[in-house]
Amino acid sequence: MGKIAFLDLKQVNAPYMDSLKSAASAVVESGWYIRGSYVERFEKEFAAYSGYAHGVGVGNGLDALTLMLRASIELGRLAPGDEILVPANTYIATVLAVNAAGLVPVLVEPDEKTFNIDPTKLEAACSPKTRGILAVNLYGRLADMPAIWKFAEARGLLVFEDAAQSHGARFNSSAQSNAGAKSAAIKSAAVAYSFYPTKNLGALGDAGMVVTDDEELARVVRMLGNYGSEKKYVNRYRGVNSRLDEIQAAFLLAKLPHLDAWNERRREIAARYVREVCNPLLRLPEIPADPKEHVWHVFTLRTPDGKTRDALQKYLEARGVGTLIFYPIPPHRQQAYAASPEGDCALLPENPKFPIAESMAETVISIPVSQVLTDDEVSEIIGALNEFVC
Ligand SMILES: *Cc1c(COP(=O)(O)O)cnc(C)c1O
Repeated sequence: MGKIAFLDLKQVNAPYMDSLKSAASAVVESGWYIRGSYVERFEKEFAAYSGYAHGVGVGNGLDALTLMLRASIELGRLAPGDEILVPANTYIATVLAVNAAGLVPVLVEPDEKTFNIDPTKLEAACSPKTRGILAVNLYGRLADMPAIWKFAEARGLLVFEDAAQSHGARFNSSAQSNAGAKSAAIKSAAVAYSFYPTKNLGALGDAGMVVTDDEELARVVRMLGNYGSEKKYVNRYRGVNSRLDEIQAAFLLAKLPHLDAWNERRREIAARYVREVCNPLLRLPEIPADPKEHVWHVFTLRTPDGKTRDALQKYLEARGVGTLIFYPIPPHRQQAYAASPEGDCALLPENPKFPIAESMAETVISIPVSQVLTDDEVSEIIGALNEFVC
């Protein structure tokens, strides 16, 4: 058997080569490359697909996160220095975006079972300066949004989502993503997406989007991503240049119709892993009661300790199976946050330890789960995992 890559983007895009090439040709020949009809169409289609009224294309996922927070400040819904709760085991982009917007990230431990922010730990993380929660749907599983919305509503907090890993995940098998709320009043203020090439819906370069039901917020995000301007050469805000390219929107429009089928194939593979891997050294992730809440951006196992994890990674490498660690160093342990000026960042409050996030960083390992895997490859990976001894 040959090598099984963790994720081979050439393989991911190969079945759609004809439509990707004709999408590219159409844009090249159109003579219109920024803020045109492809972006407009993709914004409409992806916002509707995600269950929100408005979509604003931006340059990447980090900008989507930063600009939805900055727009909330410009509209007076948040103020510089406000504290925002974020999960301690997230990708650093979530935390960087909060800082970049002039807000203060406050880390909250994840739930061992879901890998997502633990709603029972929100209360203890709140201070009088807490104004929002930025939940992350990590590994493709929706965070416990109903519990988070309820907590936020009682406290008067804004809720945002980092959905960079969860395109197409849905509550209550609803036609809408994130439509678990009973009333429109409890829904996230805005949701940030990344279309980085490795994501479940990936562009052929960088791309991102903010979706929201709030027309005013959408308008300000759009201005901020275009130099703070709505009318040419009239600048209302100190904006940035972060726009979704026409060519990326055309690629994404060509790929979007296939996303549900890809996610379904990922669920099938994940279900086989959970059913067929029976090695006592390996703790498998939980399949949510409603499988639609998970789109398995990555399939993440845990080992009893860091030594076993590293041994497993070497072993799988030798068996030709690619793996990755999401993420080996949690944000609060990064050098980027080692010397935070007082008040710049509440990553290290009185209790600087995040034992759950730290233990996850040492013991998680992700195995291939993308839609391109064949049944035989999945069987081979299962066989390898079941034969692993330490
Ligand atoms: C990929 C990712 C981002 C950042 O997206 P980019 O498009 O790379 O800027 C943010 N948050 C999470 C959880 C991600 O996985």
